[in-house]
Amino acid sequence: MNLHNGQLFWPTTYKNEENYPVLEENITCDVLIVGGGMSGALCAYTLSKETDLDVVVIDRRKPGFGSSSANTGLLQFSSDKMLHELIEQKGEQDAVYFYQLCQQAVESLTTIAQELSEDPEYRKQKSLYYASTREDAARLAREYEALQRYDFPVEYLEPQEIASRFAFTKEAALVTGGDADVNPYKFVQIMLKDAAKAGVRIFEETPLMRKTKTVHGFTCESEKGTVQARHIIFATGYENDFLAQQLGADINRSYAIATEPLPSLKTWYKEWMIWETKRPYLYMRTTKDGRIIAGGLDEDKPEAPLNDGIIRERGERIVEKIIEHFPDLSPEISHSWCATFGESHDGLPYIGEHPNRLGEYYCLGFGGNGTVYSMLGAEIIKDLITKGFHPASRLFTIARAVSL
Ligand SMILES: Cc1cc2nc3c(=O)[nH]c(=O)nc-3n(C[C@H](O)[C@H](O)[C@H](O)COP(=O)(O)OP(=O)(O)OC[C@H]3O[C@@H](n4cnc5c(N)ncnc54)[C@H](O)[C@@H]3O)c2cc1C
Repeated sequence: MNLHNGQLFWPTTYKNEENYPVLEENITCDVLIVGGGMSGALCAYTLSKETDLDVVVIDRRKPGFGSSSANTGLLQFSSDKMLHELIEQKGEQDAVYFYQLCQQAVESLTTIAQELSEDPEYRKQKSLYYASTREDAARLAREYEALQRYDFPVEYLEPQEIASRFAFTKEAALVTGGDADVNPYKFVQIMLKDAAKAGVRIFEETPLMRKTKTVHGFTCESEKGTVQARHIIFATGYENDFLAQQLGADINRSYAIATEPLPSLKTWYKEWMIWETKRPYLYMRTTKDGRIIAGGLDEDKPEAPLNDGIIRERGERIVEKIIEHFPDLSPEISHSWCATFGESHDGLPYIGEHPNRLGEYYCLGFGGNGTVYSMLGAEIIKDLITKGFHPASRLFTIARAVSL
């Protein structure tokens, strides 16, 4: 599957990637991670830091070149589904627990970013979540009440308070704290490098082609070698159409751009990340070197268009939206891309052990908060492997997908 098309921005920002070998022998390990994107890198890093397990990562591409190279790098505890709506759907206890887990996951990402041997351009940030319509202002008011009730860091802004900070105003907005932004490609590459230094063996251009259950685990075959593993973690992202179908996930495509560095972003209040209540939503952030990264315009098709002209045209539409918010800016596109994007039907990721195939784990962070979900997945799966239990695993069980 072609996971993205157009010109990706992040891979141009980091030239110190490691070249990993192709697997050309038969090896054994405790844990095989299939996929070296954000999910696989977080699992590998977490296992290398917190356990003595012998870990191997294989990727059919160069690690980090799947969806994680198209990620726009906003890290937020708020999910695409608002807390008060999730309370209606899942009940108060589970919904609040889920939001708390996401908040802790952003903190864990911060800790990892601070520990790494190189800077992944990680910045703690606040987010402005504005009401796209008058009706949505009432939803934001309910969301403010729910977030505040459970002690999440949130402020409510009235139209004049928005206008005093920005050149635009809206019917209402929430400001959430404890969020962050990152260069996701760099983050993945540095985590993998540091995991490799700690003993994780990583192989690129090494597809998993067949897996057979054995008495002690699995035999996993690639083109030129095999891995005997006690446990397997599938961190394969959106690529596996069949798996996505079984899980009942929606696989769409989404557009994003990076601009050339701008001379000044001083009308962008504190460089807060910005998103909105409309679906699909527009979102925007800045970078350390003064660019704007923005995205949206999701379409109900699984793969990016092959025609670069379409991607450029969508990019121009995103720029028009930026200018609506920041009329003083003259952003010029430096990169525009389109990529596959997966969402689960209930808005929660698929994380955990296969209900019928023990020893087989899934770390599938489907949703707008993919990175936060991947972090959650890394922590939950580590505990499932080492302790056989994690209190949150029931929320994300892949058994909730009907056809598995
Ligand atoms: C345009 C866009 C913007 C986004 N913005 C954000 C954002 O701001 N914040 C956020 O949190 N999330 C965002 N996301 C979501 C985020 O990109 C994903 O959650 C994340 O990239 C998923 O990482 P992953 O490791 O699961 O998948 P991937 O990065 O795709 O990694 C999976 C890897 O598995 C490998 N693989 C697959 N099958 C096999 C096999 N059989 N054998 C070996 N290897 C295999 C692939 O080669 C790939 O490298 C965005 C997504 C898109 C498309």
